Amino acid sequence: MIKNISNKIYVIENELAANSTLIIGKKGNILIDTSLFPKKAMKIKQFSKDISGKDISLVINTHYHPDHTFGNSAFDCPIVSHKLTREFMKQMDENYLKQLKLEDIEIKLPNVVFENYFEYEDGIKLVIYSGPGHTLDSSYIHIESENIIIAGDTIITDIHPEIVPDSDLELWINTLENMPKVSNIIPGHGKIGNKEDIDKMIDYLEKIKQMKSGNINAYKLENDPNFKNRKHPELLKWSLENLLPS
Ligand SMILES: [Zn+2]
Repeated sequence: MIKNISNKIYVIENELAANSTLIIGKKGNILIDTSLFPKKAMKIKQFSKDISGKDISLVINTHYHPDHTFGNSAFDCPIVSHKLTREFMKQMDENYLKQLKLEDIEIKLPNVVFENYFEYEDGIKLVIYSGPGHTLDSSYIHIESENIIIAGDTIITDIHPEIVPDSDLELWINTLENMPKVSNIIPGHGKIGNKEDIDKMIDYLEKIKQMKSGNINAYKLENDPNFKNRKHPELLKWSLENLLPS
C-alpha cells in the first residue's frame, strides 16, 4: 500500500517487511530503505519513474537488517549509511543467508558512510543522524521542511518492535529522547504516526527495562495498553527471548 504524506513524500507500507520511503527531489529522488526483496525494489524504482519522471539518485539504509537493505542490488546510485551498517553488512556470509533462506541475494554494500550525521540537499534538504539503540548502526532521517522523521526501526507503531540481541535499551531511549518532536513519523514497521509515537516507544522500552530488572511481571506487561494494542505478540515473545537468555 502506497501512501503520500505530501507531494514530496511517499511511503510504501509493509506490515512485516519494512516500510520504504520515497522522497521527490529536484534532479532525482531519494529512497530510504530498500525492502527485503530486490524484485520489490525494482517495482519501487518503476514507481519513482511513473510518479515523477525521475530516477532514484540516492539510497539510504537506516541500519543493516535485511528487510531494510537486501533490495540495494536494484540500484546503481550512491548508497548512504552509518559506517557501522557497512561493517555489519560485510560480515553477512553464506551461512547468514542460509539461515534466512535467501541464498540468491546479492548483498550490495553502502558506498558512502558517515559517523555522526550526513546532510543532503536536492530541492529538499534532509539530515541523517546516527541514532543507536535498536542496533548500534541505527540512523534516522529528519526533513525539517516537511516536519517529518523517517525513523527506521527506532520507532515502530501498532505492532511490537523487534528487540534484537544487539539492541541497547539505554542508547535506544536516549536516541528517542533527543529526536525532534515532529508532526509525522514514518516508522520502520507499522502505520504512519506522529510525535506521540516517540513517547509510546520510550514508555514501551522503559517497561521492558523494568521487566528485565524484575520490577514488572509478564502478565502486567501483556495487559498494558501500549503492549496489548500492538499486533504480532509473537514479536514480543521473541524480543524477550533475546533480552533474557536462558
Ligand atoms: Zn531492524
